[in-house]
Amino acid sequence: MRCTIAKGQNETVEKIVSLAKRRGFVFQSSEIYGGLNGCWDYGPLGVELLKNIKEEWWKAMTYREDVEGLDASILMHPRVWEASGHVENFTDPMIDCKQCKARFRLDTLTELISEKNKEKSLRELDPEIFAMEGSLDDKFTAVLEDQAKAVKLLEILSCPQCGNKGTFTQPRKFNLMFKTFLGPVDDASNIIYLRPETAQGIYVNFLNVANSSRQKLPFGIAQIGKAFRNEINTKNFLFRTREFEQMEMQYFVKPGSDKTHYDEWKERRIEWFKTLGMTATKLRFHDHPADKLAHYAKEATDIEYEFPFGWGEIEGIHNRTDFDLGRHQQFSGKSQQYFDDETKEKYIPYIIETSAGASRSFMAFLVDAYYEEEVNGELRSVLKFHPKLAPIKTAILPLVNKDGMPEVARKIETDLRPFLRIFYDDKGAIGRRYRRMDEAGTPFCITVDTQTLQDETVTIRERDSMQQVRVEISGLLNYLLEKLR
Ligand code: ATP
Repeated sequence: MRCTIAKGQNETVEKIVSLAKRRGFVFQSSEIYGGLNGCWDYGPLGVELLKNIKEEWWKAMTYREDVEGLDASILMHPRVWEASGHVENFTDPMIDCKQCKARFRLDTLTELISEKNKEKSLRELDPEIFAMEGSLDDKFTAVLEDQAKAVKLLEILSCPQCGNKGTFTQPRKFNLMFKTFLGPVDDASNIIYLRPETAQGIYVNFLNVANSSRQKLPFGIAQIGKAFRNEINTKNFLFRTREFEQMEMQYFVKPGSDKTHYDEWKERRIEWFKTLGMTATKLRFHDHPADKLAHYAKEATDIEYEFPFGWGEIEGIHNRTDFDLGRHQQFSGKSQQYFDDETKEKYIPYIIETSAGASRSFMAFLVDAYYEEEVNGELRSVLKFHPKLAPIKTAILPLVNKDGMPEVARKIETDLRPFLRIFYDDKGAIGRRYRRMDEAGTPFCITVDTQTLQDETVTIRERDSMQQVRVEISGLLNYLLEKLR
């Protein structure tokens, strides 16, 4: 008897964090020193899962005629970040509590301040606004977005951390880029930044790639790599971290054809998550309204996943127009125009960007795969990863650690290891070993039992259905490769 419990609403991030640590998916960075906020380490299972996600993305994006790969350096010329607008615009308004020293992003106050505190301070600030129609949260957010009113509100608001009233500083712009120095001299002329996105490495290489690969428009450049943002508030495990990985593709198109390509990439990208098993009903587009678009975008949408804490962006798709190449042309003084052989025109291409977080996708895949089921009165925690993402593909388990079974199992292990990531385990009761593999998300367990010694067949137990089938040892590899495809 099997029934699913605690899937959906009851799932908590804490449960996932605890499983991730226990099973070696994710550890806190520098844990023995108390950890480093917003930074995480991927353990033995985590690094495999992350690698598999990146590999599937790489295959989907670059095993195509019209997309080339790139691996640009993390440190770039500081002018890049002036041209991109990051030096000027990559800021969040931030406030500090003078009493307890807690720091908050101004736009997160609506979710951090209690209902009572919101109600009290709004009423005190402006009884007319308070009496207006609309939800309390909407009114509160509107006040925060109005600079003059926000200043007054902060003077009477109580800090959500220490509860003191009127202890907030005024909002300050806080640039999210990490600064460091190039070379041995720590002075202002040597300041450079850790890249806050991988995209700029692609833009500045647009002509290098176009010329060396002889690609014609439309074509794309894809890159996977680390990005760094000095986020004011990190939260929700891997969702918002200070060091993370991005999987970005910039597709260069002729102006005028941008809308068609934007729509095509939107569909392709959401399909990618579904093809890898992510629950379709937990995925949606969030189109940005025209008045909320970033300074570079003509059209933008987020692919959102429904995390236990609510909907959150996992990938952004943007029509960035000719903004980026235009700015690099202006700041570098080097033409970024493309010469169209067919029409004999010269122009700056438009760019359609697909920008996914590898680590945020990791979290979404992990959360989505997590199930708790009651099986014959016992709780089974299982990660139902798509076989392509599963860190371990197959476990080899001799039923008992004697009677010649380990020898046969070891022989199978030797034969399969060059082809698959496998795990050998001969310790403890078989039921317990199955459960351990369920928690690691291993799709198949091979059991060597008494019958194996007689007829050279093994049992293969499938993780999700828990069904068992007998397969001949000689046909094992083909059977598994077929199932894993
Ligand atoms: P958010 O609004 O959540 O901060 P963003 O709009 O700034 O995200 P983009 O700049 O579009 O994000 O980055 C593209 C992708 O990179 C995001 O969809 C997300 O998956 C990932 N990403 C961005 N910031 C972080 C972060 N601090 N930690 C983990 N992943 C991130």
